[in-house]
Amino acid sequence: MQPQTGPVPHASSPLSVPFWDGCRSRELRYQRCEGCGVANFPPTEHCRHCLSGDLSWQRSAGRGEIYSWTVVHRPVTAEFAPPYAPAIVTLDEGYQMLTNIVGVAPEDVAVGMRVRVEFHAVGTDVVLPYFTSRE
Ligand SMILES: [Zn+2]
Repeated sequence: MQPQTGPVPHASSPLSVPFWDGCRSRELRYQRCEGCGVANFPPTEHCRHCLSGDLSWQRSAGRGEIYSWTVVHRPVTAEFAPPYAPAIVTLDEGYQMLTNIVGVAPEDVAVGMRVRVEFHAVGTDVVLPYFTSRE
């Protein structure tokens, strides 16, 4: 499966600027709470776990495993070339993100599969974090 050719619909806010800047630098970033130590993603003003406002940005190693996935055969828009596999990945730092799996045949995707981040530019201004099992 391949990355989208873009442009794809996306939204950012002042809160997520460090995340998107990181993607453009091929660096996966997430927030960690300085109060309780829990990883906080997607970014928010206050920790989901303890409500502390003391959150810092960290660099993720970009490795984790597939928690859940599906394979889409009929795309919503022309930019999404089927088949593609939206997935929830659990990062080793303890947070989850919604992404797409690339570089893997649809029939080979599996819960628990070890994956790593791989960045791809879609459209002119967005770099998205995808995940793959290839080294
Ligand atoms: Zn906290």
